[in-house]
Amino acid sequence: MRYDYLIVGAGLFGAVFAHEAKKKGKRCLVIDKRPHIAGNVYCEDIEGIHVHKYGAHIFHTSNKAIWEYMNQFAEFNNYINSPIAVYKDELYNLPFNMNTFSKMWGIRTPKEAKEIIAQQIEELHITEPKNLEEQALSLAGTDVYEKLIKGYTEKQWGRPCTELPAFIIKRLPFRFTYDNNYFNDIYQGIPKGGYTAIVEKMLEGIEVKTNTDYFTFRKENENIADKVVFTGMIDEYFGYQLGALEYRSVRFETEVLDMDNYQGNAVVNYTDREVPYTRIIEHKHFEFGKQEKTVISREYSSEWKVGMEPYYPVNNEQNNELFEKYRELAEKEINVIFGGRLGNYKYYDMDKVVEAALQTAEKELARKDRK
Ligand code: FAD
Ligand code: UDP
Repeated sequence: MRYDYLIVGAGLFGAVFAHEAKKKGKRCLVIDKRPHIAGNVYCEDIEGIHVHKYGAHIFHTSNKAIWEYMNQFAEFNNYINSPIAVYKDELYNLPFNMNTFSKMWGIRTPKEAKEIIAQQIEELHITEPKNLEEQALSLAGTDVYEKLIKGYTEKQWGRPCTELPAFIIKRLPFRFTYDNNYFNDIYQGIPKGGYTAIVEKMLEGIEVKTNTDYFTFRKENENIADKVVFTGMIDEYFGYQLGALEYRSVRFETEVLDMDNYQGNAVVNYTDREVPYTRIIEHKHFEFGKQEKTVISREYSSEWKVGMEPYYPVNNEQNNELFEKYRELAEKEINVIFGGRLGNYKYYDMDKVVEAALQTAEKELARKDRK
């Protein structure tokens, strides 16, 4: 055995685990099938702009300990995410707040907004929202649902809103104040220097092999470590033996434009069905960039198929049930720890991944010390 841990995936989960294990004197090898570290938070430098190659990433959390943990590796700027929604030729503020309602209905007060929403959903008699559609309607009424939620959600998930879990829309604030902050969390920002630099620091002094797929690597290195920390797809690990879990993939069409400011905001969502992409990201605005050029990415969502990057688990009932069965198999793999968004099949944000990795590391390293 050359290593205590073989860590599969140099994303946030793998990097945090490796960092903590190294601190305790454990020998770690981190591998990733991609040509670079940092997983989905990887940033590529184009025209002096940190381009979020796998989608826009805004760090936000209400957990002070996690915020402080991340601040060891980078200073964060004071970026606050406030996306704009474009519906045909209309423009709205997100998340769903008094600015949105005022523009939609020409009103000024929370009382007026609440009355309109109540009127719109009166006949629907929704008591306990059973799916994303009912949840969205009960929070914001039919106009907001039809213009800002239905089209976007069905493009993003490729399924009718009636077949999606309510929790997906509860990620977003619905508020009756004039506040365009997309998150309710206490701490928010973008790391100065980009996310890749954070992961580089986490992995300082740790051996890393990129362009290395676990399933090929293990054939020749079966006993290379005492334990494996696996942050890839759990169903792939088990050869899809119980059936395939569903994921959504995303394709980014990235363009350098010879202008300094294309859309005036980092995130602009296209909420009608007719526009084929879900959103356009203008990366420089995350860091208040003053470069002469700008880089934009159009985001297209599709169903995941073998060979594509899996981005989002589709956490509906059917997939969650199948995941439970894989989880039972995973429990029997006593020398493998499954973690991260793909290993745990959970729609985790970054802070939750870091928190889960720290908890896993703490438990695992304490256990190993007792041995
Ligand atoms: P990943 O970053 O996916 O890392 C897993 C790594 O494992 C990958 O690098 C992969 O190549 C590697 N791997 C997989 N299989 C193998 C194998 N067989 N062999 C070797 N390597 C393998 N969170 C936020 O908090 N804020 C946001 O604004 C935000 N925006 C997002 C936008 C998009 C489009 C997406 C998809 C996610 C977003 N997230 C956001 C979530 C965030 O990306 C995740 O929470 C986090 O990056 C997950 O880290 P991870 O280590 O679990 O997974
Ligand atoms: N959503 C929407 N309209 C929007 C933005 C988001 O209906 O303009 C819904 C959609 O269902 C999406 C969910 O809210 O999947 C969560 O949005 P979030 O921005 O958190 O998604 P992510 O950044 O993780 O893709």
